Amino acid sequence: MRNNFPNSFVHIRLESVTRNILKIKEKTGGKKILAVVKCDAYRHGAVEVSKHIEETVDWLAVATVDEGIELRMKGVKKPILVFGIPTYDNAAAYITHNLTATISHVTHFSVLMDGTGYHLNFDTGMGRLGFSPAQREEVRALAVMNQRLVCKGIYSHYATADDPGSDFAATQHDRFKEILASFSEIPLVHMSNTGAATNYPGFDHFDMVRTGLGMLGYNSGETRHGWLEHALTWKSTAGQVRAIQKGDVVSYSSTWKCPKDGFLATIPVGYGDGVPRSLSNKLKVLIGEKLYPQAGNVTMDYFMVYLGKEKIPTGTEVTLLGDKAWNAYDWAEAAGTNVHEVFTNITPRVDKRYSND
Ligand SMILES: *Cc1c(COP(=O)(O)O)cnc(C)c1O
Repeated sequence: MRNNFPNSFVHIRLESVTRNILKIKEKTGGKKILAVVKCDAYRHGAVEVSKHIEETVDWLAVATVDEGIELRMKGVKKPILVFGIPTYDNAAAYITHNLTATISHVTHFSVLMDGTGYHLNFDTGMGRLGFSPAQREEVRALAVMNQRLVCKGIYSHYATADDPGSDFAATQHDRFKEILASFSEIPLVHMSNTGAATNYPGFDHFDMVRTGLGMLGYNSGETRHGWLEHALTWKSTAGQVRAIQKGDVVSYSSTWKCPKDGFLATIPVGYGDGVPRSLSNKLKVLIGEKLYPQAGNVTMDYFMVYLGKEKIPTGTEVTLLGDKAWNAYDWAEAAGTNVHEVFTNITPRVDKRYSND
């Protein structure tokens, strides 16, 4: 979507992303870094983020072939791993656009075209994609047989590394180590996501760490790491400011009643932009130096803010997320979701602006 007159914008500090990557690298003992830029880099902008960090990272990864093609079309040169499922429809695109496939099922060995590079994916407990540990010898034989394909790596994925004290994460870690005994020739081994990299300093992070949320400045669970810098700030302006009287009700279903005569600001941002409706009557936004409560149900295109006695001018800046306002952890907690979803909710109607600080 073309935003000629955007009602709100996110500001992304690209050097924060670089600094976060370097810190994650340092904390994990200098491992290679795979930057996960799927879903438009969690809506931070996959092309802009990838181009900025390209020289700092070793690999990039996306969820879908289309996401990989977009990066190649914009001139991104680094190796790109596609986490998704290869099909007869998309197999040729891996070759055309030099994308590395994930082989997570025996059929994929025949789906992919000659010369395609791939990583093997083993399911050590995520229960989503990947071979079971019991298939390791069968998979090894298939890999050896299919020399028409190029095996470049092997990986697995943690289910519970968000939680810093998970026994299951340790179980997965050990299961993967056992699988690796069958694949000693594979040059690149990776398993840790942001949660594992930040919460489990004692784990073997193998050759490479995969980070999506971490490089954007957040940990994936509830543990907030102060050493990561939040890269994104979301701002809008007060579209209208009006007087409101005690007892007046606001928005759909009239869930909010004005406690005292004062002022109400209408902000032109709603769930159509990515403010979860579940934040209705919970969110607080920053205007000037103060936090103000959001009032009534969030609508598709607007939400309202109760200003009390303060009458602000129309056009006054309102910070929804980041800086001294609520951060994405606060949003996730209040909305009952995770930080990943807070970001991926942000729709293309929100303009993206970048700076190199
Ligand atoms: C999304 C994803 C990641 C990145 O997870 P973060 O918590 O953002 O670091 C890593 N690996 C796989 C397989 C993924 O799907």
